[in-house]
Amino acid sequence: MSRDRLEYMREWRRKNREKIRQYKKEYYRNHRKLKPRIVLSPEEKKQRMNEYIRSWRAKNKEKLKAYRIKHLDLFQKRARQSYYNHRQVRLEYKRQKDQRNREIVLLYYSHGQMECACCGSTDKWSLSIDHIANNGKEERKQLKIGSGAPFYAWLIRHGFPEGYQVLCRNCNWGKRRFGKCPHQLKKA
Ligand SMILES: [Zn+2]
Ligand SMILES: [Zn+2]
Repeated sequence: MSRDRLEYMREWRRKNREKIRQYKKEYYRNHRKLKPRIVLSPEEKKQRMNEYIRSWRAKNKEKLKAYRIKHLDLFQKRARQSYYNHRQVRLEYKRQKDQRNREIVLLYYSHGQMECACCGSTDKWSLSIDHIANNGKEERKQLKIGSGAPFYAWLIRHGFPEGYQVLCRNCNWGKRRFGKCPHQLKKA
């Protein structure tokens, strides 16, 4: 085929682009095999894909192994990333659980009122558990429980032992400083 002829054909195709498209469409419509189309739901599609992947992997074990070895760095990196991602999820789950435990414990020791036993403050964020006999710190040390979340979990695990109450941060501080919250000293 001469160069001119090639050029000419190219030019013709360019000019008749739409016509060619129509023709192809028409041709496809007339020549396609008419078989009923199976419409799959997204779940079915996913399942089929999974089945296919599984069977492919079973058939290509050696190939996969070689690939893994060749790209060890990549796989290690991916594993680390996945561990990190799930770590975030785990941390979030723990945070929510700690939050729930704290609420349960505070509700129990304030007799369902969620308030400070001394001044009646209901500032949820400032409430905490107070050891009435003032030896909470030593006791926790002896029993090897931390403060905060581990302490709340411990109280729940041990069926809400007696000797605790709910105080707000102010009253807690006052009690620690003066042995008795100034609110109570005023009343006396
Ligand atoms: Zn208070
Ligand atoms: Zn007080």
